[in-house]
Amino acid sequence: MSIEIKGVEKSFGDFRALKSIDLSIRDGEFVAILGPSGCGKTTLLRLLAGFERPTGGEVVIDGKVVASSSNSLPPEKRHIGMVFQNFALWPHMNVTEHVRFPIRNHKQTPPEVRKQEKARIDEVLQLVGLEKLAQRMPHELSGGQKQRVAIARAIAARPALLLMDEPLSSLDAMLRMDMRREIQSVHRTTGTAVVYVTHDQGEALAMADRIVVMKDGEIQQSGTPQDIYLRPQNEFVAQFVSKSNLIPGSWQEDIFVPQGENIAIGWAGLEVAESFRQSGHYPVRPDQLELGQPGPGMLRGVIANVQFQGKEFHYDVRTDRGQWEVISSSSFKLGEEVSIRLPQAERKTNVRYVSQV
Ligand code: ATP
Repeated sequence: MSIEIKGVEKSFGDFRALKSIDLSIRDGEFVAILGPSGCGKTTLLRLLAGFERPTGGEVVIDGKVVASSSNSLPPEKRHIGMVFQNFALWPHMNVTEHVRFPIRNHKQTPPEVRKQEKARIDEVLQLVGLEKLAQRMPHELSGGQKQRVAIARAIAARPALLLMDEPLSSLDAMLRMDMRREIQSVHRTTGTAVVYVTHDQGEALAMADRIVVMKDGEIQQSGTPQDIYLRPQNEFVAQFVSKSNLIPGSWQEDIFVPQGENIAIGWAGLEVAESFRQSGHYPVRPDQLELGQPGPGMLRGVIANVQFQGKEFHYDVRTDRGQWEVISSSSFKLGEEVSIRLPQAERKTNVRYVSQV
């Protein structure tokens, strides 16, 4: 299945919730739509599902226009499965009935077809680990189990596309981690393309083949998790995903000199998007920086906050050029003076320190 979203617009009255969205989704691809609240993620998903009609542009599935401002194929004819944030289970149906619902056959069916139905239900329940709870009603299930039922129902009819709208947001932190794995495993096993809406960058980085970052109804960047993380295209992406430090300074070719009169260092061999050269910033992730004892020619700061995270410490470091976030495995005390460095070994690019810039 191929899905093309071409110049899609959606307005609610005067408000433009989506502004000319172009996006294609390949067969079997796991695409995360990532962005802050109100950026249009759910609206885009609802358009794909057929619950909303675009005010401009087209959605094309396998060469066929399924949605435009003048026509919209109803959801049940799109062969799409959907998992909602609140699970949306039916209180009067048990687990098996939920999974049977999308594949049920109303007509008088021969035992052969009934058998196939049952085999598919068993297969799906096993896939999501619910085979022992097949007769339970929703009120007898935990949050994670309810989520599995919602996933089982969505994949039962072997949809070519699975839409998931913040499917883990109502689960606690531990369960979210387990369910990430479950969803990855369902994706691997079924081979279904997934469009997964989230405002949690950790989820998007961990699970997706591709991340589409949105803001105010527009796509800011679309790329692999590594692309988005290591090569953000603009300040919004740099700060929304893993909170980059935007270090002010000046660019001379591939050399960046952090702002400040008495700084005798620069970083060379860096690659950044043009927008950072123009705004005079270098975006650097907290885990791409190193902390050490203060030394000559280095950026200095003071530890302003520490959070112990098990394997590493998350520091806020106050400098005369603003507050920076740094993740380090070394222990420093609150108020301690430190130097901040960009470790050469961690950079893909050929970074070197240049002195006396
Ligand atoms: P969240 O993460 O909070 O769910 P979102 O990125 O999914 O946000 P949408 O639900 O797509 O955002 O909404 C995008 C914008 O469109 C919001 O400003 C919202 O208020 C507006 N909007 C959505 N649906 C409607 C509607 N039916 N009528 C009017 N405005 C709407």
